[in-house]
Amino acid sequence: MRNVIIIGSGPAGLTAGVYAARANLAPLLFEGSGSGGPPGGQLMLTSDVENYPGFPEGVMGPELMEHFRKQAGRFGTEFQTTDVTAVDFSKRPFRVQADGKWHEAKSVIVSTGAKARMLGLPTEQRLLGKGVSTCATCDGAFFKNKPLVVVGGGDSAAEEGNFLTRFASTLLLVHRRDSLRASKIMQDRILKNPKVTVAWNTVVEEVLGEKKVEGVRLKDVKTGKTRDVKADGMFVAIGHDPNTGMFKGQLELDENGYLIVREGTTATNVEGVFAAGDCVDHRYRQAVTAAGMGCMAAIDAERWMESRHA
Ligand code: NAP
Repeated sequence: MRNVIIIGSGPAGLTAGVYAARANLAPLLFEGSGSGGPPGGQLMLTSDVENYPGFPEGVMGPELMEHFRKQAGRFGTEFQTTDVTAVDFSKRPFRVQADGKWHEAKSVIVSTGAKARMLGLPTEQRLLGKGVSTCATCDGAFFKNKPLVVVGGGDSAAEEGNFLTRFASTLLLVHRRDSLRASKIMQDRILKNPKVTVAWNTVVEEVLGEKKVEGVRLKDVKTGKTRDVKADGMFVAIGHDPNTGMFKGQLELDENGYLIVREGTTATNVEGVFAAGDCVDHRYRQAVTAAGMGCMAAIDAERWMESRHA
């Protein structure tokens, strides 16, 4: 039986790993593909991170996560690279299932993050990985001198769009309204980028192409008119949903599926189960806040076990 099982390997989970390992709790950490990409969470699907303190020149997302992982490993966090498929928090010890095997733990830290939303078009699903992507960092370099489309109007769309202009010949930003949700600085960057044009009040109706993306069918939501635009890739950047489906009926969730924790702590409604990062936090959603919550979760778990003399 483990002292602590940590589910998730983004900034929250790996920081919990650092703290729990340094407290001699020998944590077992499951690193899976909950965020829709490789283990390491959403930063694995990001390019430059300019706002993580301690890196004045910025750092690439995957490189930052490699640092997190090494630091957690250095103090004895044990990793299993697989998705957790079920949990049982109805009694103690808690149970966590992965690869068909149940693991027992005195306490659990849930840090399963969030993942990218998709438009929900059948053609988008069919061409996923064949020109449709949710990860500019992973796939941008495949589109040197090709025309690209980015969908969305928030910071993600602006950031991914700007990053993609390093490769793309032209970039069309498709947004369903007439103004961007992105922060002012990100808006300025994308709107001033000479490779970028914006299709306002527009949605993607269809992704075109049989074996790979050849274009998109756009619909003007005001006039109802459609037009086809040539593109080799479509990047979807329309926000995220928390990876919490597995906890339904076991932990308290809000109406959008985010885990509810007691204010100022990481305690869920089940004593001994703690939660941290983007699976809880829909307000800040930053790597540094997730890391901070991961630290809190490890300290909360440690103190809870100590108080029970577990
Ligand atoms: P977001 O702020 O929720 O924006 C999602 C965008 O996609 C919105 O413009 C939304 O349109 C659009 N959208 C949603 N569903 C759609 C659909 N089905 N079809 C078409 N368009 C759709 O998500 P985000 O951009 O991923 O950002 C999430 C959070 O992370 C924000 O707090 C953001 O500030 C932060 N973030 C920060 C950085 C940075 O600082 N470098 C980078 C990335 C993200 P509407 O505007 O009409 O709702």
